[in-house]
Amino acid sequence: MINLKSMTRAEMEGLMKELGEPAFRAGQIFQWLHRGAASFEEMTNLPKALREKLAGACALTVPTVERKQISRLDGTIKYLWRLSDGNCVETVLMRYHHGNTVCISSQVGCRMGCVFCASTIGGKVRNLTPAEMLDQVLFTQLDSGAEISNIVLMGIGEPLDNLETVLRFLELVNSPEGMNIGMRHISLSTCGLVEQIDKLAEYRLQLTLSVSLHAPDDETRSRIMPVNRSVGVEKLFACCRRYFETTGRRISYEYAMIDGVNDADWQADLLVRHLRGTPGHVNLIPLNDVAESPLKPSRRVRQFQERLESQGVTATVRRKLGGDIDASCGQLRRKRMEEEAE
Ligand code: SAH
Repeated sequence: MINLKSMTRAEMEGLMKELGEPAFRAGQIFQWLHRGAASFEEMTNLPKALREKLAGACALTVPTVERKQISRLDGTIKYLWRLSDGNCVETVLMRYHHGNTVCISSQVGCRMGCVFCASTIGGKVRNLTPAEMLDQVLFTQLDSGAEISNIVLMGIGEPLDNLETVLRFLELVNSPEGMNIGMRHISLSTCGLVEQIDKLAEYRLQLTLSVSLHAPDDETRSRIMPVNRSVGVEKLFACCRRYFETTGRRISYEYAMIDGVNDADWQADLLVRHLRGTPGHVNLIPLNDVAESPLKPSRRVRQFQERLESQGVTATVRRKLGGDIDASCGQLRRKRMEEEAE
């Protein structure tokens, strides 16, 4: 079966040629798919014979809402989508003054093993397809009625562990005939896979790269993020400097504040030293309590922020949205898996 929705516009034109159809049919189909069509019968401006041919040769699936939680505090909506093979992934819709932002998943589960993260418990099941990434944006918009203007790849999974798919997804969602979301409205978050960051840099995309740093020293970072054991903080920052030099885009560093682990003054000072020479911005995240983890949120977020700022590093504290619904990564999927196991 052909996965039509994962195809770029150019590939679709190639397919039409193979089928002996005029090229403009590709544009029509592309538009239908990117508006959320759930069947080929709906595509009423295509000849019936073509619709039948496509229905016979192509898979056209749409995710279904398995769970939906709406925050009474701020209108954040968390979706648990059921995919065609029965796996589930999460998407979060956040409403900010500057527009509606959707946080999407890139894999079913994750193999990076960060100790504070719920998404990685149980490991990686599989990569998502470009269509499954696009569907999260599309169907969140359709279901909620909120027009999406920004995307963050910060849901379940490590986007750079599924780089080819992510690049294709970016092309799809950026397409003027599709959702037309500009690269500058997209952020991609990584735990710091240096080879993949170097590869991404070559595309010189105007998106914002977020690096999940969480600790400025190897001892701490290797303890909470196994990915650090093979690379180390020095090499990661060297890679970030290369990324900035190639793309001209400042990196945003995520730093989840964990009580007694990464919130000491010396760690703020070390972070300042690393950031000299790499323009970047630090986003301090109050740790979300994960039931399976003994780690606790830091009580020194403001002091840490002030210590960075007083040494010339810009640092913001992420506002917590959806505090009343399991709005942090992987928690809703975990809950569902536990229920299914019972
Ligand atoms: N794999 C990618 C993207 C997914 S996680 C990455 O590592 O960046 C999105 C962000 O949420 C990452 O910065 C991640 O470290 C952070 N995160 C995971 N669990 C968290 C928790 N319990 N509290 C706060 N932030 C968390």
